[in-house]
Amino acid sequence: MSEEWSDTEISTLLNDNGMRATPQRMAICKELLLKKCHRTPNELHEELCQRFPTISPNTVYLTLSQLESSGLIRRFYVDGQAIYDSNTATHDHIYCRVCKLLLDVGTENSIHTPKCTEEWSIEWGTRVWSGVCPKCH
Ligand SMILES: [Zn+2]
Ligand SMILES: [Zn+2]
Repeated sequence: MSEEWSDTEISTLLNDNGMRATPQRMAICKELLLKKCHRTPNELHEELCQRFPTISPNTVYLTLSQLESSGLIRRFYVDGQAIYDSNTATHDHIYCRVCKLLLDVGTENSIHTPKCTEEWSIEWGTRVWSGVCPKCH
């Protein structure tokens, strides 16, 4: 995905995935898809509230789950918290439990596809390494 998506391209993407291109959905796509980032639904909601004071948490949750169903973003859990990831390439994560820093780690597929998964159709997977980052210990 390029960084130069136009509004038309984003609305086409939404339409292609069965979603109407409302201004809120467009904004969610811009926040998440164009940046290859990690966001919790609450963080995303807070960011969007600055521009769309009336946007409801439900709209954010629903849009995220629609984008996830379409394979445009991935979801995983850290400390019981749902994290949405717009980097859909297979990769691991490293997490600091003190400052909550969450980073992508490597993309070596071999890590994710042990022999027992050979006959499966694997769509995505991630491992989360958690601990304390250099700044925090
Ligand atoms: Zn830290
Ligand atoms: Zn990631």
